[in-house]
Amino acid sequence: MPHDITDVTIIGGGPTGLFAAFYAGMRGITARVVDALPELGGQLLALYPEKYIFDVAGIPQILAKDLVRGLVEQAKRFQPSFHLNQRVVALEEDGAGFALVTETDRFPSRSIVVAAGIGAFSPRRLPQPTAERWYGRGIFDRVTDPERFRGQRVLIIGGGDSAFDWAQQLLNRAAELTLVHRSDRFRAHGATVAAVQDAASTGRARVLTFHELADVHGDSNLLRAVTLKDVKTKMLRELDVDVILPMLGFVSDIGPLGAWGLRVESDEIVVTSSMETGRTGVWAAGDITTYPGKLKLIATGFAEAAIAVNQAVHWIYPEKKVAPGHSSNMAIFGQKDD
Ligand SMILES: Cc1cc2nc3c(=O)[nH]c(=O)nc-3n(C[C@H](O)[C@H](O)[C@H](O)COP(=O)(O)OP(=O)(O)OC[C@H]3O[C@@H](n4cnc5c(N)ncnc54)[C@H](O)[C@@H]3O)c2cc1C
Repeated sequence: MPHDITDVTIIGGGPTGLFAAFYAGMRGITARVVDALPELGGQLLALYPEKYIFDVAGIPQILAKDLVRGLVEQAKRFQPSFHLNQRVVALEEDGAGFALVTETDRFPSRSIVVAAGIGAFSPRRLPQPTAERWYGRGIFDRVTDPERFRGQRVLIIGGGDSAFDWAQQLLNRAAELTLVHRSDRFRAHGATVAAVQDAASTGRARVLTFHELADVHGDSNLLRAVTLKDVKTKMLRELDVDVILPMLGFVSDIGPLGAWGLRVESDEIVVTSSMETGRTGVWAAGDITTYPGKLKLIATGFAEAAIAVNQAVHWIYPEKKVAPGHSSNMAIFGQKDD
């Protein structure tokens, strides 16, 4: 599908990409955001929407999903366009500028900001072939609203943070809650593990260690039960469930970024202090970047987004300064001067 040219195209709609979109608008250039996921928010919405974040400056405590909501609202002030479910597959360049190519679209752009985090990521799927047909109809590997599972018999598979976080969230919502893990070593936060184990000791949940999913059973469109296997004794047992939540982590892939002439080491883009990537017209920011002393934090991504966008602004329009000035003084926000 053809699109108009924008000044900057931002790869990634995580916190860094969203703040970059705001910043582009504040500097008076046009922006679009392209993301492989169906929703904006990057890791915050895909991996930990219900977790509190405590280290964003000026915000003492905020749910990840609420921080995303604020970032989207802030960015929308300048009407960037958002293109979701679009995995970037190529970057082309001619005399007039770049064209960022996804599986379906082509986005002409004067500059690029790569805010691709850990790459395009998708949940690791259950290896059992019988599970495949139940995805979206009883098996859900992403949870955005725990209320959806109120009153249901829920099986969670996994031993990491996501498995235990959702187990804790569903303790008082699910009719029955079972957590199954292949070993007795959990990679989750100790306090969450303790809360779920405590619930198990009082009969409000079941934690089955050294167990794995062996089979999934259902009638026409309704998931009904699972067979679980004890990995030590090989004994099988059947358990009635309505919902399976596999929390097996994510697989991520930086994909074509490695072939664009950027300085890439260990799936990260090596940037200068100006967020330069080694390719003229392409800057990077956020978790995807590396340099001595790099911290992979939301706060770092915000600062890097501002640096990258200001560099792009000056490169596209040399008459515009790199230094943005102070927002508190900007006419664009209805303040006195620019
Ligand atoms: C469980 C957990 C808790 C955390 N808690 C905190 C915390 O308390 N405080 C803190 O500061 N940080 C925390 N972090 C880290 C924080 O989430 C990251 O630093 C932050 O998400 C980085 O933002 P980003 O926008 O750079 O990348 P991401 O959030 O990873 O977003 C990148 C986006 O780029 C998209 N993308 C990638 N490749 C492509 C492609 N080829 N085509 C299209 N789209 C693509 C992805 O789909 C993704 O949406 C936590 C992380 C985790 C996993």
